[in-house]
Amino acid sequence: MILDGKKEAALLREEIKKEISSLKDKYNKTPGLSVILIGDFAPSQIYVKNKEKNSKEVGINSEVIKYPKEVTEKEVLNKIDQLNNNNDVSGILVQLPLPAQINKEKIINAIHPTKDVDGFNPINVGNLASGYKSIIPCTPLGCLLLIKKVEKNLSGKHAVIIGRSNLNGKPMAQLLLKENCTVTIVHSKTKDLKAECQKADILVAAVGVANLVKGDWVKKDSIIIDVGINKIGDKIVGDVDCEQVKDKVKAITPVPGGVGPMTIACLLKNTLECFKAR
Ligand code: NAP
Repeated sequence: MILDGKKEAALLREEIKKEISSLKDKYNKTPGLSVILIGDFAPSQIYVKNKEKNSKEVGINSEVIKYPKEVTEKEVLNKIDQLNNNNDVSGILVQLPLPAQINKEKIINAIHPTKDVDGFNPINVGNLASGYKSIIPCTPLGCLLLIKKVEKNLSGKHAVIIGRSNLNGKPMAQLLLKENCTVTIVHSKTKDLKAECQKADILVAAVGVANLVKGDWVKKDSIIIDVGINKIGDKIVGDVDCEQVKDKVKAITPVPGGVGPMTIACLLKNTLECFKAR
C-alpha cells in the first residue's frame, strides 16, 4: 500500500475548510496565521508560498511578513511581541533556518505558546513530553495521521525512529509513546542501525540521507514513514529506498507526495486549533 499523502492532505484540508466556514457563520470570525520570512533562501520562499496558498484555500487569513537577511534580532522580537498581542492572529510561524545574527532559541521562546503553530516552544515540547494537551509539531503529527490510516490501534507495536531532531525524531517518539508503542530512537552514533530497524513494526526515517534504508533493513508487513527530502540530481528522494522496500512492507509513504503535503495540512489544523482555543 502506497500511503498517498496528497490525497489524505486534501481530505484533511476539506475538513478544516468546512469547520472554518461553520465557525465563521456562527461567530463571524476566522483564524489568522502570520508567517515571518527572513532573507531569500529559495526553499523557504517555496515553503512559505505553499503555506500561504493552502491557508487561503481553507479560509485562514494568512499574512507573510518579509524581512531582508540583515534584519536585527530585536526587530523580529518586536514584531513577534506585536503579533502575540494581536487578537486577530491565531498562529505565528517563523520560517527556519534563520540568519546567523538571529538566535533561533530566543525567537522560538518569544512566540506565545498558545500561538505556536509549529509546536517548537519549550512549553509545548514539555506538555507533549508530559502527556498533556499541547500543540504538536506539524510533520510528526502528519506522520501519525498517516500511520493511523493503516492501523488504528498501535498499542504494543515496536516503533523505530531514525533521527533525534527537535523538529521530527523527538516529538515523533513522544507521539508514538502516547499511542502505547515501544519506541526506539536511533541516530548517527547508533552501533547497528540495520539490526534496530529490522525490529520495527513501524519505521519512521527522518534523517536526510538519500536511500539509507535498504530492502533487508525492514520487517515484513511493517509500516514505513519516510520523512526525508533529499536531492539526487534533479530527483527528490527519501531516506528509504522505496523500490527495494515497497513489496515487502504493509504500507509506505512515497517521496515526494507522502509526508510533505501532510505537514502543511497539519499546520492549517494547528492554526485552527489555536483559533478555537482562544
Ligand atoms: P536533522 O536535524 O539534520 O536531524 C537528522 C537526524 O538524523 C539526526 O538525529 C542525526 O543524528 C540522524 N542521522 C544523520 N545521519 C545519520 C545516519 N547515517 N545514520 C543514522 N542517523 C543519522 O534533520 P531533520 O530536520 O529532522 O530532517 C530530517 C529529514 O527530513 C531531512 O531530509 C529534511 O529535509 C526532512 N524534512 C521533511 C519534512 C517534510 O515535511 N516531509 C519536514 C521536515 C524535515 P545525530 O543526532 O546523531 O546527528
